[in-house]
Amino acid sequence: MTRLTHCRSCQSPRLDMILDLGRQPLANALVEPAHVGQPEDTFPLEVLFCQDCSLVQVSETIPPEILFGRDYPYFSSFLPALLVHSREHALGLVEQYGLGPRNLVVEVASNDGYLLKNFVEKGIPVLGVDPAQGPAEAARKIGVETLQAFFNATTAHALVAEGKRADVILANNVLAHVEDINGFVEGFAILLADNGVAEFEFPYLRDLIDACAFDTIYHEHVFYYSLTALEPLFARHGLYLNDVQRIDIHGGSLRLTVGKKPGKTARLEKLIAEEAELGMGAPAYYEKFSRQVAKVRDDLRKLIQDLVSNGKRVAAYGAAAKGATLLNYASLKGDVISYVVDRNVHKVGKYMPGLEIPIRSVETLMQDRPDYLLILAWNFGAEIMAQQKAYADAGGRFILPIPSPAIV
Ligand SMILES: [Zn+2]
Repeated sequence: MTRLTHCRSCQSPRLDMILDLGRQPLANALVEPAHVGQPEDTFPLEVLFCQDCSLVQVSETIPPEILFGRDYPYFSSFLPALLVHSREHALGLVEQYGLGPRNLVVEVASNDGYLLKNFVEKGIPVLGVDPAQGPAEAARKIGVETLQAFFNATTAHALVAEGKRADVILANNVLAHVEDINGFVEGFAILLADNGVAEFEFPYLRDLIDACAFDTIYHEHVFYYSLTALEPLFARHGLYLNDVQRIDIHGGSLRLTVGKKPGKTARLEKLIAEEAELGMGAPAYYEKFSRQVAKVRDDLRKLIQDLVSNGKRVAAYGAAAKGATLLNYASLKGDVISYVVDRNVHKVGKYMPGLEIPIRSVETLMQDRPDYLLILAWNFGAEIMAQQKAYADAGGRFILPIPSPAIV
């Protein structure tokens, strides 16, 4: 691992640390029971702000073989809500740009072809680009032509040499993960036709800060974007931000439209102006967030420790990355949290990274009846509390940690 000395976008050395979440294991690295108690790899989880281009980014560069080495293959088609969202999006694009058999739609990080198949059905040529073998093979099986590769300037040049130019390029939930962000954006400039459009979806930093959702910060997410930071990044490669929509997925995201000719919509101008008014181009905005985050940590730790000292038993719900980040940051380990329940059977029986907390089935709650249930998946808090009505009826109480720890 290497600590960042220069901004990954503009290369400036003027980086301010705006948030320190401490040393953390990789948030998805669940521990096998046989390895509990053995040392785990941990890395600083610090967030930096570039004083020159305003880009917010994590401080450590972790080699991809460590970062993604243990990931389970991830197939987007298993997420029904995503399929509906993607289909609506694809059909909207076909109509908006009048796409037909002479056009080419490219998707970067195309996974198992769940989005591109909607264009294939309409007779529109497509190409997916994705480095993961299993999902790329699954995509080809449903007729979505897929190149198994990382997308960058080299990949884009090779496609152009084959005579390919994209009228539309889509990249959903990948912009935040790519370390070499300049090489990545340059690839779009190379592959895009002169009148083409590229669309990116990614979590919006402003929504993260408004919700105090600091637990969505972990090593796999290298970047946290504002429009203020994206404009110079795209401009460097001859691309213009032209339109934006705020969309209600992943806790609040942006869908950004980029092209080779300038032409900002009024709603894009408005959102950029709002960022300026909020101060997203200066460190003070982020320092305020950092103080809120530290207060959540202190208040949550005190709340849980007081309950445990009074003889109460506390379990938690949701063995996902965000839960690992929150518990590690607040140092709430196996001595105070009895276990974490999760609906994913592949996680049950393992342990939370860095915490020595076992993961159990959701049914454990009714058998064991802990006094309190800390909802780590707080963004689904209402749904989880409704599902666990029997637990509440039997006297169980819920704790929501964010935006401010509370027993509900
Ligand atoms: Zn910068």
